[in-house]
Amino acid sequence: MSRPELRIHTDRFISNIETVRSRVLPAHLMLVVKDNAYGHGLEWAVGAAQRGGVGWFGTFDIPTGLEVRRALGESARVFAWTTSTDDEIDAALLQRLDLGVGSAEYLERVIARARSIGVPARAHLKIDSGLHRNGFVSDEWAQAVADVRRAEAAGLAEFVGVWSHLAEASDDEDDESQRIFLEAIRVASETGATPAVRHLTASAASWWRPELRGTMCRVGAFCYGIRSTDSPDINGIVPVAELVATVLEIADGNAVVGLGGFDGFPSSLVGAPVGTPAGRRDILAIGETTMRISGWAGMQIGDSVRVFGAGGLGEENATALAERIDTVGEEILTRLTTRVLRTIAG
Ligand SMILES: *Cc1c(COP(=O)(O)O)cnc(C)c1O
Repeated sequence: MSRPELRIHTDRFISNIETVRSRVLPAHLMLVVKDNAYGHGLEWAVGAAQRGGVGWFGTFDIPTGLEVRRALGESARVFAWTTSTDDEIDAALLQRLDLGVGSAEYLERVIARARSIGVPARAHLKIDSGLHRNGFVSDEWAQAVADVRRAEAAGLAEFVGVWSHLAEASDDEDDESQRIFLEAIRVASETGATPAVRHLTASAASWWRPELRGTMCRVGAFCYGIRSTDSPDINGIVPVAELVATVLEIADGNAVVGLGGFDGFPSSLVGAPVGTPAGRRDILAIGETTMRISGWAGMQIGDSVRVFGAGGLGEENATALAERIDTVGEEILTRLTTRVLRTIAG
């Protein structure tokens, strides 16, 4: 029984990273590696990216940040932004992770842990610029800055950065978010603080709204070659992963292929096209471990079918599949289960 395979192309990943990096210059790139590097595999992603010259990594949580530190050593900068437990804060401080801090409660705990173990925290304060998903609101900001400055003076913190996250729902809203973000930086600098790392944008805004970039861009999707919903493909950004399955059986002139719901492939994708040796064919039905595809002349057991990828066989990319079922390209990748074999190519 042949398992479906997620083929991961290192050369494409490095090339996407290069494309993004040169696009956002002089801002720096922080590669976002949450959700197991968007389903591509954390260790592979951070190792390849470091060899490709990436210096900053964004991990969402501290345990993943610690994994990145173990894999890459001391020179990597690792940013973990979700509120965490005291034990995890301790480990993060000892391993010199950069911490995103977006509430007074968390800031207080981070400083208390820094005092307790005698290692200063590298803090990036988050201003809530409208998404209401963690972050100091404008009214709390001056106090947060004062608190982190006091900790800095006591040797318990370094005020490394200011950051926020955009809704990317409309340009107007993103402009308003940037206004709040810049005002927060102004308030901080009035105290004499010099947070050197200022980051606001993810893939789409980093690419299309240069005026919103700070000194660093947090980019996940585009580095993996996943385009945004309702946006065109981008020249120079190529899907890093392709999902390949094998013809296991021929039934009534159709191909029975080894990929199904148990592999994390959404059964709602019936009707979507896949790439076969004879070109584009439609998915007719999706079961637990197999799916049925319209056949082609000369099809044979063992033939490969590309379910998503760069389009070479007529298949769609992950975002185009996602658009059929009202989700995002990242989801198509991150939902794939461990039944899917991940292999590294070129
Ligand atoms: C996921 C995430 C990113 C990266 O978003 P992409 O659209 O994948 O580039 C950046 N910042 C934060 C806070 C995120 O959660």
